[in-house]
Amino acid sequence: MPYLTQLADVARRTGYPVTEVAGWRSRGHGPQPEVQGIVCHHTAGPAGGGDYPSLAVVRDGRPGLSGPLSQFGLGRSGRIYVIAAGRCWHNAPSTSPRHDNSSSIGIEAENNGTQPWPAAQLDAYRRLCAELCREFGLPASRVKAHREVNTAKPDPHSIDMNAFRAAVAALIAGTTGPTWTEKIVRELPLIRLGDDNNDVKTVRGCLFARGHVPAAAYAGVPDGLAGWLNSSRCDDGLVELVRGFQRAQGLDDDGLVGPLTWASLLRVSAGAAAVASGTSAAPPVEAPASR
Ligand SMILES: [Zn+2]
Repeated sequence: MPYLTQLADVARRTGYPVTEVAGWRSRGHGPQPEVQGIVCHHTAGPAGGGDYPSLAVVRDGRPGLSGPLSQFGLGRSGRIYVIAAGRCWHNAPSTSPRHDNSSSIGIEAENNGTQPWPAAQLDAYRRLCAELCREFGLPASRVKAHREVNTAKPDPHSIDMNAFRAAVAALIAGTTGPTWTEKIVRELPLIRLGDDNNDVKTVRGCLFARGHVPAAAYAGVPDGLAGWLNSSRCDDGLVELVRGFQRAQGLDDDGLVGPLTWASLLRVSAGAAAVASGTSAAPPVEAPASR
């Protein structure tokens, strides 16, 4: 198997934003020999420090272990970082021949090892595993926690892997229909500069509810905040506030309110659009591994 240069496209199918880390297509400890499994990790990085403070360590390694340490990073916001296309040092010694470094893909999710997992990050984690299973023809049972395939490791902490795999299997099979909130998000229009409609008011209300409307934004507006909230026009000031919100959420700050930005504004799962467009055939079902 060559370098896995399709990984960024696979990640984008989740519907979550993707950062291609410079040089990823040729990064690795040689090419990836095969993909028989997926190993889920947590970084054990700092409790704070932004979306993916462990990027440099996962890319470049640490004393005693050279990078790259895994093909993927997963930020707290659900943003996916594509770090390497070749083999990575994420699991040795492995108790499973399908989950050693030469046979599996690693995902290092940002978490200090004790803090709660943000809902968006967990949702992206499941969707990334499901898309990787689709891409490489694997059943959900091949998705393992590091602690399940390495006796010395505790990660990823507190995730019930049987429930996680069941959710991945449902995503692979395409049996998880969108929730009603996800349907609403899909039907919301793209909002851009110059638009004039009631959905613009919804954007204003959500930005205010999320704490992204400073008093200066409505200081000169007739009726102040009430007048500002009631304006149906998408003007330059609103676009700037949308950009600020997008940056805070780890989204591309294009100032356009599309499905991902709507999902963040309304705090619902962002992956619905990806599920709708997923057309891959489900891989064969395999009995769950005994453990
Ligand atoms: Zn690990």
